[in-house]
Amino acid sequence: ADVGGRILTVSVVWSVLLVACIVVLVSQERRDGARSRRVMAGLFTAVAVFVLFRAGYFLAIGVNPAFSVFGAGAWMNIATPMVAATLPVIGTTAFLLMCSERIRRQWERAASTDYLTGLPNRRTLVEMGQQRFERARASAATGGFALAIVDIDHFKRINDEHGHEMGDVALKHVAGRLQSACREAELPARQGGEEFVVLFDNLQPNDAPAAGERLRHSVAQAPFTAGDLVLPLTVSIGLAVLRADDTQFDSVLRRADEALYVAKAAGRNRVEIAP
Ligand code: GH3
Ligand code: MG
Ligand code: MG
Repeated sequence: ADVGGRILTVSVVWSVLLVACIVVLVSQERRDGARSRRVMAGLFTAVAVFVLFRAGYFLAIGVNPAFSVFGAGAWMNIATPMVAATLPVIGTTAFLLMCSERIRRQWERAASTDYLTGLPNRRTLVEMGQQRFERARASAATGGFALAIVDIDHFKRINDEHGHEMGDVALKHVAGRLQSACREAELPARQGGEEFVVLFDNLQPNDAPAAGERLRHSVAQAPFTAGDLVLPLTVSIGLAVLRADDTQFDSVLRRADEALYVAKAAGRNRVEIAP
């Protein structure tokens, strides 16, 4: 039998498979299991190098001696099954690691995101809010932390007149409007129910009314449509900018909530800035 040809064919097929695996592992844009993905890519690369080296080695020394137990290629005949035997173990371990990392990331994403709108949920809002609040308090010079509570006007009517499912679609619509109205440093989140909160970074008190108007307008200007149904939606907004006597994130939230109440009482579809 043409042993040299067989070694060469097997090596080429093996290398192509390995390179295909490496390409798939490296080109994935998702960051799921990034570390174990790199481990696996490294492992496959090492094996590919070994396979090519083995083929080259056998070709260089001539094939026949390799198949004598005492010949020049004997060590290679011992090394090959040893390398081959470790692969399933390392490969399976890396694969399991990759799966568990991916599950952990998916779990983290699910725990920090609102399932309906895809926006950050209340948990993330409080985390991020506290972070930004502390940062702004620490650097008294910039001190531009602010937040807006955005509440949909008469939302209960949509549920009552068109059903809860339509209400859900309307919520997604408003979430999308707010998201597209937000600038890079602004974070919209769903606080719960039909209430959203937008966190601002570096908002100066003078710019607060315009920022609030931008959010209000983004919802008011685009009616919610579903099939033949066209529903104008509006929001009321209470906005509070960090004050020297705000010792806690919650106190900013409370002032914004009070401003929201004023906006509702004053006729809705309005922005009210907390004093
Ligand atoms: P207001 O202008 O004073 O804010 O009136 P409103 O009707 O928007 O306020 P209210 O707090 O009375 O009603 C909020 C409603 O939002 C009640 C609740 O059924 C509805 N809601 C809360 N969460 C959801 C949800 O996830 N999906 C749907 N479809 N409705 C929700
Ligand atoms: Mg409401
Ligand atoms: Mg509400």
